[in-house]
Amino acid sequence: MRNIPLNDLRASVREARAEIDAAIARVLDGGWFILGPEGEAFERAFAAYHGPDAHCIGVASGTDALRIALQAVGVEPGDEVLVVTNAGIPPVAAVVAAGARPVFCDVDPHTHGFDPADIERRATPRTRALVAVHLYGRMAAIDQIVAAAHSHGLAVIEDCAQAHGARLHGRMAGTSGDAAAFSFYPTKNLGALGDGGAVLTSRPDVADRARLLRNYGWRQQYASELHSTNSRLDDLQAAILAAKLPHLDGSNAKRRELAAIYHQQLAAIGDLLTLPEPDADRQDVHHLFVVRVRRRREELRAFLKERGVGSGVHYPVPAHLQAPYASYGDGAGSLPITEQLAAEILSLPLYPELTPEDVAYVAEQVRAFAHSGT
Ligand SMILES: *Cc1c(COP(=O)(O)O)cnc(C)c1O
Repeated sequence: MRNIPLNDLRASVREARAEIDAAIARVLDGGWFILGPEGEAFERAFAAYHGPDAHCIGVASGTDALRIALQAVGVEPGDEVLVVTNAGIPPVAAVVAAGARPVFCDVDPHTHGFDPADIERRATPRTRALVAVHLYGRMAAIDQIVAAAHSHGLAVIEDCAQAHGARLHGRMAGTSGDAAAFSFYPTKNLGALGDGGAVLTSRPDVADRARLLRNYGWRQQYASELHSTNSRLDDLQAAILAAKLPHLDGSNAKRRELAAIYHQQLAAIGDLLTLPEPDADRQDVHHLFVVRVRRRREELRAFLKERGVGSGVHYPVPAHLQAPYASYGDGAGSLPITEQLAAEILSLPLYPELTPEDVAYVAEQVRAFAHSGT
């Protein structure tokens, strides 16, 4: 029996270990730990990875990146922001942290992302922005989302926490909206060894405001231009991220190879599972490999666990059904696609350090379950 956890963070540092060790030593020897040269170097490298027009501002987490991006595009207390509820708490929490009111929207079952039709349905004169999440490493329909949002005068924030390096029609995640938020939480496709995040934008005005917002509103030390607290990416994490960034495309390619094995081995499984539909327009980066399980999901999870295979549900309870946020929405039944997906989704292990044999083993167990059942 193999032991295949849903994630393996110890393995995640193996490939770049020598560069990471050197990066850490450089920071310790340099003696500059916050907003220093390593932070600037990583910001330059991560911006350049997205093209010549991108600006990158390192912040303390992905959730802070969302909040700062919202504030940087002009969201103010009392504004409404359209947001999905199937991406965990962070996108909704960030809207509330910016002082705005979240307006919950449903998703498209093909991308698990924002359904552009909802913009028409839910935008009001008080709506200022929307947060579009590129979930599981697959891009939402960002072209239509941006077109519809801009025609209503809304700013678009792309949540790229699960989509570092993903593309739609060749265009990278984070380069279509007014600003994008990235997380470098350790399990993400580009992960630090602690918390970290970044705002990415091609708008110089948004970049300027984000830079002020992450550091007390200071343009110069001790001189505040804006009301803000702090949220900074430290130099140690930045140096580690700079060491890992050159490996990102390679590790995303490995994820794609492993996803193809799942597709191959689970194609003929019958009607128990729906696999993510292949999509030639999109270059997915498979942050997670999420299937839909029509019935007996919890039994399947227990079956896998007995055979050494970890699994997850990302995420079990949509934000609009969670106590602190429920009052912003219309409760159960209000977002039917989101709610149906939450009942069916299952994440199977997928990370670059898995071998093809590991993935084949997982698929074999899923097949065994499908054939065992009624
Ligand atoms: C991880 C994640 C975030 C938040 O990132 P943190 O760095 O943990 O704050 C936001 N949105 C999505 C979709 C995420 O997966």
